[in-house]
Amino acid sequence: MDYPASIAPVSPQLRGEPGRGLDVVPVVELSLVVPVLNERDTVGLFLDCIGGIFDKDPSVQLEIVFVNDGSTDGTLEFLCNRQRIDERVKVVDLSRNFGKEAALTAGLDIARGRVIVPIDADLQDPPELILEMIGLWRQGYDVVQARRIDRRADSLPKRLSSSWFYRLHNWIAEPKLPENVGDFRLIDRAVVEALKTLPESRRFMKGLFAWVGFRTAVVDYVRPPRAAGSSKFNGWRLWNFALEGLTSFSTAPLRVWTYLGGLVAGLSFLHGLFILIRVFVYGVDTPGFASLFVAMTFLGGLQLIGIGVLGEYLGRAYLETKRRPIYIVRRVYEHKN
Ligand code: UDP
Ligand code: MG
Repeated sequence: MDYPASIAPVSPQLRGEPGRGLDVVPVVELSLVVPVLNERDTVGLFLDCIGGIFDKDPSVQLEIVFVNDGSTDGTLEFLCNRQRIDERVKVVDLSRNFGKEAALTAGLDIARGRVIVPIDADLQDPPELILEMIGLWRQGYDVVQARRIDRRADSLPKRLSSSWFYRLHNWIAEPKLPENVGDFRLIDRAVVEALKTLPESRRFMKGLFAWVGFRTAVVDYVRPPRAAGSSKFNGWRLWNFALEGLTSFSTAPLRVWTYLGGLVAGLSFLHGLFILIRVFVYGVDTPGFASLFVAMTFLGGLQLIGIGVLGEYLGRAYLETKRRPIYIVRRVYEHKN
């Protein structure tokens, strides 16, 4: 296939620094960005797993950026102990819990690698996949998404609500989100720089990743259950997360009221006309209390929903206009050269 010169896939030899000594594979600087909230039970397993994969791989120069998102279970102390003996580990301690999206943003701002992989600490994002992703990056892709092909590890309500969310989102919002793709993906430095130019402070990362685009490849994997600990996303948090996604990337819920209002007004005009004609033909009658009550409460409900939707957007616009920072760093723990 012919590509214009600007988007031609880069040949494998060109991506990464030239190999050292007799290495044939060029060296790539990889940053893992790991947001952690109360992951005391999983971070050790995570680091062991990462060590098993990358310790003996000379083609990868690794940096692991943990973002401590307000943990209260000793996660920070554990990570700091590891950071003291392992210079690949950096720990960014946020001043409180800012949420996973803000924590990821902090990690992306601090990571230095040529390729960056946001990854969960609970081993639900299998680190083995990263080598395959790097292979595709070397072929010239800027983004390599990891797609879950089997979500049996997630509960049925979670799977169902997620599938409804994607259907609704992709119906009303632009750009479309690829289904079953989370934050776990490989992104090139160029993509990170593009993400940094997006000024919004409320960051729905999946949407922002999709918005910036770039040449994208996909690898499939089966999502395992959590290695230890428990999920930080309950039903209410997921619901708010879904609202965030929809309101960040679509104005359809705002605009639908114009059409709904027009439709209801049109129908009520026709109904009025019908009553008028009936009075002229059959004379005056006064039944209709039940239909009046139903119409009133139904329309009252619709109006409240409309005001609620306005509130969702207005509230977000209000928070956005404050231009508050996305996160506050308490301290960065890193090895000084
Ligand atoms: N996380 C975070 N801040 C939060 C919630 C979660 O940094 O406010 C981290 C969490 O520690 C984990 C990742 O985000 O590393 C994914 O969270 P979890 O595994 O609970 O989500 P699930 O896989 O259940 O969707
Ligand atoms: Mg998880």
